[in-house]
Amino acid sequence: MTSIPKNLAKTLDKLIASQQGLYREGKVADYIPALATVSPELMAISVATLDGKLVGAGDIQAPFSIQSISKVFGLVMAMNRLGDSLWQRVRMEPSGQPFNSIIQLEWEKGIPRNPVINAGALLVADVLASHYSSSKLAFLSFMRHLANDENIYIDQNVYQSELIHGNRNAALTYLMKSFGNIEAEVPEVLSHYFTQCSISMNCHQLAQSLLFLANKGVDPRTNEQICTRQDSHRINAILSTSGMYDQSGEFAFSVGLPAKSGVGGGIIAIIPNYGVICSWSPPLNKFGNSVVGMNLISGFANELGLSIY
Ligand code: GLU
Repeated sequence: MTSIPKNLAKTLDKLIASQQGLYREGKVADYIPALATVSPELMAISVATLDGKLVGAGDIQAPFSIQSISKVFGLVMAMNRLGDSLWQRVRMEPSGQPFNSIIQLEWEKGIPRNPVINAGALLVADVLASHYSSSKLAFLSFMRHLANDENIYIDQNVYQSELIHGNRNAALTYLMKSFGNIEAEVPEVLSHYFTQCSISMNCHQLAQSLLFLANKGVDPRTNEQICTRQDSHRINAILSTSGMYDQSGEFAFSVGLPAKSGVGGGIIAIIPNYGVICSWSPPLNKFGNSVVGMNLISGFANELGLSIY
C-alpha cells in the first residue's frame, strides 16, 4: 500500500479544486424539507490516520445530517449487545435493491438482507430500543464519546421532518413486526432510527470517530476496544459489499474500500490499518450517493493506491 504523502493537505486542496461546479450533476435529497434546503455548493474531505494525523480541505467544519452513516454506529452497538444471535435476525448479503425497498422483506419473511439497508437498520434500531433503557441517549453518548466532542447534536428540524415523512420506514418496521422480528413497539423503533439519522456531524468528527474500524476494533487515540476484532472485520465486509446502496459493486470495482454513504451527502471510507476518509457534498446521484463525495474518495484512493483488493 502506498504511504500517505507528506503534503496531504495539498493533495486534498487539489482534489477539492478539481470538483468545483460538478455538484450540478447531482440533486440534493428532497424527501424531507429539512434536507432540501442545504446549500449544494458545500463540499469537504477529511482524512484521519491511525498515527494521529487529521487533515482536511473545503468545508470541514460544517455539520451535516449523517443519515445512513449512523447505520454503522448502530450496528456496532447492536453487535456489542447481542453478539452472534444478531445474525439470526438480519443477514449479511447484498440486496441488489434500493435502500428502502420493501419487496425482499416479504419474500424473506421479515429477515432483512443486511444491516445497512433501511430494513436492516430498523431491525438494529429495534435491538437498541429494546436493550437500552434510553437508546436515543445511549446512541448520542456513543457518538460523542467516539468523536470526543460533547457538542455533537440531534438536529430536531431533521428529526421532525423524518417523523412526518416516515411512512416507508414505518411500513418496513410493521412488516417485520408482523413476522415476529421486531420486539419493541413500532413507534419506539422509528423514533430511535430517526434520531440516529438526524445527528449532525462534520467530516473531521466522522473520520476520527471511525478510526477503530481501520484498527481491528481498537481506537488508536485511546487504545479502547470499541468492538471485537472479529466484528471490525465483519462490519468492513458488510460495508464493502453493501455500504454504497445499489452502487456497492461499482464502488468496489472502481475504488475498493469499505464505505458507507448517507442521503445527507456524506460518505465514510475505511482504509484498513491506515485511517478513515470522510467526504461530503449534498447533491446525490440516482443511487443516493453523493456525486462529488464519491469523486473525492475515488480520486484520493486511486491516487494513493489504497484499494484493499
Ligand atoms: N433517513 C433516511 C431514511 O431512512 C436515511 C436514508 C439514507 O441515508 O440512506 O429514509
